[in-house]
Amino acid sequence: MKPANTILSSYGTTIFQTMSVLAMEHKAVNLGQGFPEGLEPEDVLEVAAKAVREGPHQYPHMLGIPELRQQIAAHEKRFYDLDVDWNSEVMVTSGATEALANCIFGLVNPGDEVVLIEPLYDCYLPLVQRAGGIAKMVRIDPPNWELPRQALQEAFSDKTKLIILNNPNNPCAKVYDQDELTFIARLLEKHDAYAVCDEVYEHLVFDGRSHIPLITLPGMRERCVRIASAGKTFSITNWKVGYIVAAPALLQPIAKTHQFITFTTPIGLQKGVAYGLGKDDAYFKGLIADMQGRRDKLATGLREIGFKTLDCAGTYFLTTDFSPLGFKGDDSDFCRHITIEAGVTAVPVSAFYQEADVTHFARFCFAKEDAAIDEALSRLQKHFN
Ligand code: PMP
Ligand code: GLN
Repeated sequence: MKPANTILSSYGTTIFQTMSVLAMEHKAVNLGQGFPEGLEPEDVLEVAAKAVREGPHQYPHMLGIPELRQQIAAHEKRFYDLDVDWNSEVMVTSGATEALANCIFGLVNPGDEVVLIEPLYDCYLPLVQRAGGIAKMVRIDPPNWELPRQALQEAFSDKTKLIILNNPNNPCAKVYDQDELTFIARLLEKHDAYAVCDEVYEHLVFDGRSHIPLITLPGMRERCVRIASAGKTFSITNWKVGYIVAAPALLQPIAKTHQFITFTTPIGLQKGVAYGLGKDDAYFKGLIADMQGRRDKLATGLREIGFKTLDCAGTYFLTTDFSPLGFKGDDSDFCRHITIEAGVTAVPVSAFYQEADVTHFARFCFAKEDAAIDEALSRLQKHFN
């Protein structure tokens, strides 16, 4: 038998799937894989359910139904004062993951360099490698996750096609500030490069901070592709509705990939998301307040058990340092151990690095119902104290 594609088959199953399967096997409270529970807005579900029933049931426009593309353009204006032409600068995708694949396959030629910042979301590196791109890694490290500007500058060259920037960042919950973004913007200009901006956690930014899309910085309108996901904004990760905003010259090659991969996204779900994006400010503010409350509840409880908790400026992930608990073993051992022995699942942070040298940090997802957070804390308390 001839071998399958060697790049993709060299990867194992993702850590998220692996930990969720283990959580299910052991009936653990799953604070591992990032998905919310009990937070779906009822009205968004209703609109989509009705639309699925009523149809149409055939292919929509490949860029997305006009109603959703118009709502996306309105969203960009409302939240970021960004003027976007819904007809030539917006494309709906089947999740942010598809959007990332479209960008990478649509923009990267074999031999192009792509700057990636570790910790890395799981699909970035395999997609870049599959596209024939050459990854140039820069790393930010716990506990402060500071951007190493010198290393970043050195990672760029005239062969750099693009950087993938995840802001707010999963797993480190870092929200890039204006100064860091300006630094990145100058590098893009200097090296005539693009940025693929994975901003799926744009509406999960805490403590009065604001999310600044790189595309809104001077000179960045033509260089940035902004990716968002309804999965996070409306707590509906199963729907896989994402979108891309980019200048026409960038969107066109990206749309070429989309037309050969998924081509379209279900109309009913697009209608639900179009309705959701039009929800009033109270919804978006409520989401932040709600998630911030869950973050604080989980963080306080974990600290009482003996974990150190790292700052969480955005996303729905809390990184913890479990070394004060005296556990013998690395972060993968720890996450398996608490799943099997305590009945609570987390994700090892080393899974987001190429080298498994960040060994005592575990990521917990707090987008869960109060009862689940309480139960997880009580199980961990019982196990460790
Ligand atoms: N990027 C990041 C950083 C994520 O955490 C996720 C989430 N799961 C995605 C992309 C994928 O989003 P989607 O489920 O819309 O494909
Ligand atoms: N983004 C989610 C996480 O970080 C998981 C998504 C997935 O499982 N592909 O946990």
